[in-house]
Amino acid sequence: MCRRNLFIPDKMAYTKGKDRPEGVCILCAIAEGDPQVSNLVVGRRDSFIVSLNLYPYNPGHLMVFPEEHIEDLRQLSEERLCTMFSLTRMCMDVLDELYKPQGYNLGFNIGRSSGASILHLHQHIVPRYSRELGLIDVVSGTRVIVEDPIITKEKLFAAFKERGAI
Ligand SMILES: [Zn+2]
Repeated sequence: MCRRNLFIPDKMAYTKGKDRPEGVCILCAIAEGDPQVSNLVVGRRDSFIVSLNLYPYNPGHLMVFPEEHIEDLRQLSEERLCTMFSLTRMCMDVLDELYKPQGYNLGFNIGRSSGASILHLHQHIVPRYSRELGLIDVVSGTRVIVEDPIITKEKLFAAFKERGAI
């Protein structure tokens, strides 16, 4: 259950994954415009939010989620489901325009045993690039983010604004 007005003394530690106090929901914090996390938002439409992922798998890794804290796709009406997928399609159009990926992984993790680190319903939109695994990735076992996240955010924000979704 999400406690919207809970005082969170050390939210940045939570957003960095160091400490995850029971009852705190990072996507609710983003939806409420918490200044420590709201700068991840790049689009908004009909009570849904498009945001950058906290730990991007690839540049342009986005999430679409409802402002309301729900944890299962089946809690959405047909109409809201349509809105969510319409925004998903917009994410793909925007990413095609800005980054020209060769493919996408789209998906949900629903329920505690699914691997979901955040229970608040969200869809991942992960652009995939044919040459994304470089030498440094192989040697160090880490991924290299090739663009400054602030630049990524500004470009995406402008593209969603152009489409009327902000
Ligand atoms: Zn939530």
